[in-house]
Amino acid sequence: MRLLLLAPPGAGKGTQGARLAAAFNVKHISAGDLLRAAARSGSPVGRQISSCQERGDLVPDEIVFDVLTPVIVEAVARGGYILDGFPRTLPQATAAADLGARLGLALDAAVYLYAPEPVLVRRLLGRASQAGRGDDTADVIRHRLKVFAETTSPLIAYYEKRGILLAVNADQPPESVTAEIQARLPGPSPAHDIKDTQDTT
Ligand code: ADP
Repeated sequence: MRLLLLAPPGAGKGTQGARLAAAFNVKHISAGDLLRAAARSGSPVGRQISSCQERGDLVPDEIVFDVLTPVIVEAVARGGYILDGFPRTLPQATAAADLGARLGLALDAAVYLYAPEPVLVRRLLGRASQAGRGDDTADVIRHRLKVFAETTSPLIAYYEKRGILLAVNADQPPESVTAEIQARLPGPSPAHDIKDTQDTT
């Protein structure tokens, strides 16, 4: 199973990523978590990552590729992945598709989780009051939502055009979101034969 999760902050990418990875017995790859871990190294690149994340800006594509590519390649070798938070820009999406083509693999679906903005903000502020991620402040949340709308949301049309977009209402309990994704995922069919599809990641 190879899935990616495309969603604004607060829609539940992390939660669904973990649940789906357990359900399909594949690796959950969280771009945000991997970048936060790389930031903790304290190297110059690490400091660059952490200043982007603190501001709610995207980390430059090249850094994202360096951090994520080896993890994706390894997950592919072990049977698949749930990719949460990558790709997030059109250049990242085309690079991911190129990587898939090189590895001879098709993506099963791009799951777009959507919810009304007040719901997203409420969830993120709720999380801030509990776990306290540095970028869950009102100003940075607003900025992250804007970055999603401007830079990441074009990927919705990109995957729709490729015929693999699965849009799911994320404003329902986590178990219902997972169940809906599982029920609506395309089953094995000739259309998913590698030779018959151009959707690769
Ligand atoms: P959220 O979706 O709630 O913002 P994430 O943990 O997915 O949470 O991302 C947190 C931050 O990590 C982003 O604001 C950005 O700085 C960085 N990041 C995560 N994924 C990417 C990516 N694919 N490209 C660039 N930056 C990313």
